[in-house]
Amino acid sequence: MQESRENKIFFSTELLEWYERSKRDLPWRRHRDPYYIWVSEIMLQQTRVDTVIPYFQRFIERFPTIRDLAEAPEEDVLKCWEGLGYYSRARNLQAAARQVVERHGGVVPDNKADVSALKGVGPYTAGAIMSIAFNRPEPAVDGNVMRVLSRYFLIEEDIMKTGTRTLMEELAAELIPEGRAADFNQALMELGALVCTRKSPQCLICPVMARCAGRLAGAEERLPVKSKAKPPRPEYRLVALVEGGGALAGRVLVRRRPDTGLLARMWELPHIPADAVPGEGAGLPDGPAMDRLAVALAGAGVPARPGEAWMNAEHTFSHIHWNLRVFRFAAETTAGQAASGGAANGGAMKGGAENGAGGNAGAANGRTSYAGAASAGTASTYQAAQYPAEAGSAALFAAETAAAYEAGAPLALAGAASASSDTAAPGAASPSGGGTRQEGFDLAADSAEYRWITREDMESLAFPNVFLRILNRYFKQV
Ligand code: SF4
Repeated sequence: MQESRENKIFFSTELLEWYERSKRDLPWRRHRDPYYIWVSEIMLQQTRVDTVIPYFQRFIERFPTIRDLAEAPEEDVLKCWEGLGYYSRARNLQAAARQVVERHGGVVPDNKADVSALKGVGPYTAGAIMSIAFNRPEPAVDGNVMRVLSRYFLIEEDIMKTGTRTLMEELAAELIPEGRAADFNQALMELGALVCTRKSPQCLICPVMARCAGRLAGAEERLPVKSKAKPPRPEYRLVALVEGGGALAGRVLVRRRPDTGLLARMWELPHIPADAVPGEGAGLPDGPAMDRLAVALAGAGVPARPGEAWMNAEHTFSHIHWNLRVFRFAAETTAGQAASGGAANGGAMKGGAENGAGGNAGAANGRTSYAGAASAGTASTYQAAQYPAEAGSAALFAAETAAAYEAGAPLALAGAASASSDTAAPGAASPSGGGTRQEGFDLAADSAEYRWITREDMESLAFPNVFLRILNRYFKQV
């Protein structure tokens, strides 16, 4: 990568002049506060600027200082992040804020080694904080920056390789004009966002067009060279939307995910894994799927009558693609259930673990027994025998463990610091530490809390996007 000195000087000079003329007025650019820069950089990972702006403003309003963030309940932080996705970013940000309070008295250190040691801060974020907040000549190289450099300097190396990223960081560091790190790095990001875009780069209005080797070689559309990442693996889920009756009328059953792993501690509708989602398109009948769910619900202490297949939903995480089929159920209403429902709404009720194990857990609490419910049209004891896993453990709804997801998680991508921080931490322990596990599933991991919620409760509980969409649609209809 022997680039001529003139080309480098031309690039840096023209880029800075263009940035002075063209930079966008973004809320985090009105400050040099390292905390604001840090929050904005974490939010901007894999998320568009337009989407981030209102989130950033709400977040800073709610947590104006690092100490406010460090001391806030995690639930509040996740709620503020709800809809942005990649929730481990929010959890890591809060964990790192606590580290800053403990180690540095609540002040972001002006020192790259200390900043890099904070949770969730990869090389890109560390470079962005050091350069933008402290004007230190540190490169901040992400996918956008690698695209611009690949094109301008006609670099044909695969940007997914760690070695290429290292070379790009060295090149980016060389390009920083003395004393201008903050503006230069932002200018480079801005060019990638506004002009040298992934598709259809706008070379005719580009400030460095005259010496862009990629454009002169007609290679701007095919650069950067980027080997394909592994596609997310498909997973299929049968989801129960259980509507309360009697004292619980107007409420829906939700549960909280475990403390570790994908979407840790967020709320969701109960669901179980399947080999495929049924429905007309798949050529599979809905009946057996509803039966399995009914048995599992009974096992969790919530006897319920199957209603209908209601909707399908999909969501893609960095390494998994969820295909969901949502079924409506009507909870069996009994005095016992109403009483426990009241408790549930005062706090969180435990799932079947506290109600006793086994398919008839509900009966132990004075609820309608599952076998009794079967005669009223729910799944039969025969069906319970057909689905022993579901009937045998209230933990069926226990969510996936970190270990299960790690098994399929991609390697950290070169040049994508956020990708590595968005997966569960390697080696994170399963909440149960053992048990009989189906694929992506731990039957012994039942620490789930269940709650009956109203639409208003959604304002204080944090849900992943896909369940937010389902619940919003449901509450809009009823
Ligand atoms: S001339 Fe085109 S390819 Fe080159 S840096 Fe500018 S926009 Fe990108």
